[in-house]
Amino acid sequence: MHLPANSSAETHQFLLRCRDIVGDEFVLSDTPLMEGYVTDWRKRAVRSAIAVLLPASAEETARLVALCAEFAIPIVPQGGNTGLVLGSIPSETGHAVVMSTRRLNRIRAVDTDNNTMTVEAGCLLENIQQAALNSDRFFPLSLASEGSCTIGGNLSTNAGGTAVLRYGNMRDLCLGLEVVTPIGEIWNGLRALRKDNTGYALRDLYIGAEGSLGLITAAVLKLYPVPRAKATAIVALASVGDTLKLFHFAQAQCGTDLSAFEFMSDFCLRLVQKYQAQTTSLFKASFPQYALLELSSQDEDHIVQQKLNELLNQASQRCVIQNAVVASSEKQANMLWSLRENISAAQSKEGKNIKHDVSLPLSAIPQFIEQTDALLAKHYPGCQIVAFGHIGDGNLHYNVSAPQGTSVDTFLNDQQEINRIVHDQVHAFFGSISAEHGLGELKRDEILRYKSPLEIQLMRSIKHALDPKNLMNPGKVIEG
Ligand SMILES: Cc1cc2nc3c(=O)[nH]c(=O)nc-3n(C[C@H](O)[C@H](O)[C@H](O)COP(=O)(O)OP(=O)(O)OC[C@H]3O[C@@H](n4cnc5c(N)ncnc54)[C@H](O)[C@@H]3O)c2cc1C
Repeated sequence: MHLPANSSAETHQFLLRCRDIVGDEFVLSDTPLMEGYVTDWRKRAVRSAIAVLLPASAEETARLVALCAEFAIPIVPQGGNTGLVLGSIPSETGHAVVMSTRRLNRIRAVDTDNNTMTVEAGCLLENIQQAALNSDRFFPLSLASEGSCTIGGNLSTNAGGTAVLRYGNMRDLCLGLEVVTPIGEIWNGLRALRKDNTGYALRDLYIGAEGSLGLITAAVLKLYPVPRAKATAIVALASVGDTLKLFHFAQAQCGTDLSAFEFMSDFCLRLVQKYQAQTTSLFKASFPQYALLELSSQDEDHIVQQKLNELLNQASQRCVIQNAVVASSEKQANMLWSLRENISAAQSKEGKNIKHDVSLPLSAIPQFIEQTDALLAKHYPGCQIVAFGHIGDGNLHYNVSAPQGTSVDTFLNDQQEINRIVHDQVHAFFGSISAEHGLGELKRDEILRYKSPLEIQLMRSIKHALDPKNLMNPGKVIEG
């Protein structure tokens, strides 16, 4: 039976039945209670919803999803709502429920002999990292939003972050999934196997699908040995080209001990120093670029520190680096990391800006930056470019702020043109217009310009096969 929930009597009926499943307390339909769930992280959009539903188990989730299918009500899965592409809030119609996973927050099992952990989708990333440490294991995914984002959101966006260089992104860190399909069945794919060639990789389809194919309720995650020691440094460099030379040199010298290699321009560093209290100047002079390097290993502390010093000495002798600050304590290492992690926050304090999350082949990065900077300067003289990111993974956050003295709102009117310049450049260098944030609603139409008609058609076929009624997060990723 399919009843369109287009009358208030039907909606009333629908909500009554939701309350039967999860209880009154966990069906929010008053506007003030729903506000946090329908407002995007950057406060760019405030939408509406029929209700916010908060199931506490996969079974409750499945029953709610089946009910939504019966009433033809679309579902927007939501974890921590920290996503940056308008994927986790309803589209403008407001004709949808938000299915929040906040109460699906149990660690179901830790198997140290298999180095795996089975967790529910609404567990905060930070809690998963801690639970792994409590069992003397390490879960490597690390994002600045880890105190608020959930593993279900991380899986659904195939999240990246600062540890991809060594451990890969979310798809590489997950072995199995439990998923509620759009008609309310539970697929138990909670396999904890590192080898399993038994047909199509359904798990990998749901990962990165941004809630458009089904709702993830639990996952089996890979665990690793806890690194015994870390060494961290910020290095000053003369150019983006030298940054990449240092990256390759560091990889050749240190192999997989190189666990992070982040990059920021001088403008980024100055922005953070302007807004972050207790930040002292790192270097007497300023340099065009900086890289943040981290080595982590099972060696003793002093050996890792020695490796880092040796690497920097050799790089300096080869004139690859200009200067370096090595952290001599964990507190100093955290301070160096905070410079990198607070760039976005500092740029926001400076005013709204136009953000791009792109990836490129490493070899193309110097030319991409040089040419794109020049193109933007030609069309928008004085615009300020904040380029930073996980350069070891080829991932740049390439943000553009208004020229000084120009009204931010006037500048933002040109957002589409600026996106076009940057994304066309990315495409010309065989890159991707979304490295780790996904497509959501923000880049849903933009991607049509860059993927071939065949690829779009294949994506639509998958969407149609798994969600024929287009009830899972409609209006996101790809139109059904
Ligand atoms: C300060 C800051 C720093 C960030 N840094 C990074 C970074 O370094 N790397 C990175 O990759 N991202 C980063 N992000 C983006 C964001 O944190 C990630 O995308 C994160 O993985 C989203 O998790 P979430 O639980 O908040 O998901 P949400 O925002 O709630 O949802 C994201 C998407 O996943 C879907 N979804 C959520 N849960 C489920 C589920 N259980 N089943 C099916 N679909 C679901 C939603 O519908 C939506 O489409 C950052 C964000 C902020 C605010």
